[in-house]
Amino acid sequence: MRQILLNPGPVTLSERVRSALLRPDLCHREPEFAVLQSGIRAKLLRVYDLDASAWASVLLTGSGTAAVEAMLISCVPRERALLVIENGVYGERMRTIATQYGIATISVQHAWDAPIDIGRVRQALVDNPTVSHIAVVQHETTTGRLNQLQELATLCAEFGVSMLMDTVSSFGVERIDFRQWPIAACAATANKCLHGVPGTSFVVLHRKRFTTQSTSRGVYLDLNRYLLSQDGGGTPFTQSIQTFYALDEALDEFFDAGGVSARRNVYEQRMDAIRRTLLDVEIQPLLAPQDCSCVLHAYKLASRLSYEDLHDALKAAGFIIYAGQGNLAAQIFRISAMGDIQAADLKRLQTTLVSVLRI
Ligand SMILES: *Cc1c(COP(=O)(O)O)cnc(C)c1O
Repeated sequence: MRQILLNPGPVTLSERVRSALLRPDLCHREPEFAVLQSGIRAKLLRVYDLDASAWASVLLTGSGTAAVEAMLISCVPRERALLVIENGVYGERMRTIATQYGIATISVQHAWDAPIDIGRVRQALVDNPTVSHIAVVQHETTTGRLNQLQELATLCAEFGVSMLMDTVSSFGVERIDFRQWPIAACAATANKCLHGVPGTSFVVLHRKRFTTQSTSRGVYLDLNRYLLSQDGGGTPFTQSIQTFYALDEALDEFFDAGGVSARRNVYEQRMDAIRRTLLDVEIQPLLAPQDCSCVLHAYKLASRLSYEDLHDALKAAGFIIYAGQGNLAAQIFRISAMGDIQAADLKRLQTTLVSVLRI
C-alpha cells in the first residue's frame, strides 16, 4: 500500500523526483555542480517570473528553518530593529531566532486563530522608528491561515520598511506580489509546495534591498557569503547534492504541470473535496474557507474520537495526518494537500475518513 503524507512537509514524492536521487556522485567544486546549482537558482526565479537582474535565489543545505534563520540574521542592520508579526508557531519561531541572535526585536502578537491586526502593526511602526524590516509568515501552517499581506505591504511601503517573508509553506502556490510589495527576502524550502526532497532550502532576495542593508550575525547562515559565492558558481560549504538533483527535477515537473496557478488549482480541488467529506460527517473547519491557504486546513476534533485514535486509524489505511501544535494540540488536526497525491488516493482518503469518522 502506498503511504500518503498529508502532513505539511515533507511530501509524498513522485517517482520522477525520487529517481533523480540516483544520479551520479558529484563534487561540489566541479563545474558540473556549478551548472546544476545555477540551473536551480534560475528555475526558482522562474516560478514567479522574476527578473534575474533585480532578484536572486540563494540555495542552502538545511530545512526550511535554516532559510528563515539565514534571512532574519543577514538583513537587519545593527543599529536598526526587526518587527515580527505573530499569529502562530512560525511567527513565534521568528521572534525566538531574532532575539537569540541579539537583534533588536519588537513583536506584535495575536491569538493563534486571529488575522493580522493592521492597526496594531501601524501603531508599532509609529512607536518604533528604528524598525527597518517586518518579518511575517504568509501561510501560518499552525492553523492554515493565509495571512492577507496586501495592506501590510502598503503599510511597509508607507514607512519605508522592507518585508522579510516566511513563505516556506506557500512558495510555489500562493500569490506573492514581488513587483509591488517591498520584499527584501522570502525564505522557502524544497520539500513543501515544490515537491522536492527535504534537505535543501532557499531564500529569494531583492538584490538592491538586500545588499544595501545587510549585516549578518552568523557564519554558516550568512546569506551574503552564499550570494557572493553562488553568483561566482561556487558554494561556501558542501551542499546536499542529491537533494539538489531532486529539486531540479521537481522544478521541471512543476513547470511541466503548468506552474503556480495550475498547482494552486490542484490543491484547491483536493482541499475542497476533503472539506466536503469532513462536513458530511460533521467535522468543522477551524477557519472560514476564505481565510485559508490552499495548502493546509485545520479541523476541530470531535469529542467522539481522540487525535491519537484518528491518526492511528488513518495511518493503518496509509494516510499520515498532522496534530495541532501548542494550545491547539487538544483541539484540532490538520490535513495538507501537498505532494504526489493521485485521484485514486484522494478517493480512498475520502472513503476512509467517512468510515473512521461516521457518526
Ligand atoms: C514547515 C515550515 C517551516 C520550516 O520547518 P522545517 O521543519 O524547518 O522545514 C517554517 N515556516 C513555515 C510556515 C512552515 O510551514
